[in-house]
Amino acid sequence: MKDCVFCCIVAGTAPATKVYEDDTLCAFLDIRPIARGHTLIIPKAHATELEDLDADTGAHIFRAGHRLALAMRRSTLAADGANLIMNDGKAAFQTVAHVHLHVIPRRNGDKLSFAKGFLLRRPHDLEGTATAIRAGIAALATEDNDHVEGTQA
Ligand SMILES: [Zn+2]
Repeated sequence: MKDCVFCCIVAGTAPATKVYEDDTLCAFLDIRPIARGHTLIIPKAHATELEDLDADTGAHIFRAGHRLALAMRRSTLAADGANLIMNDGKAAFQTVAHVHLHVIPRRNGDKLSFAKGFLLRRPHDLEGTATAIRAGIAALATEDNDHVEGTQA
């Protein structure tokens, strides 16, 4: 969809700091993050709301969110947890009309900084943050390989 900012990000005509992508989806840092590392996962094919999204893509997006949440725990962001949130439809405060899953890293006792981030929504060191998350994803992949090797032994 040509007037959709997320479709422009997928097409590479709008800037974004991507942390992960595959054939179906793309994950990038929210430009108005609630917390450092706040990432959005979107389907590459435009879908305005869940109503327009096929179930397999939805499952794939959640699987990626699950993995990103784990990657954030393994990264130097040192997350203790994460909020995975999808606002579906204007009634639910969806602000960009292209389906997106928020993955927001949380730390124990971060209630105040989270509340402040919710109000300010200022970007942090984008490249440094993306590098940290990518390293977390790589650490997770290494664990998977170790697990496979361990199973074979
Ligand atoms: Zn779109």
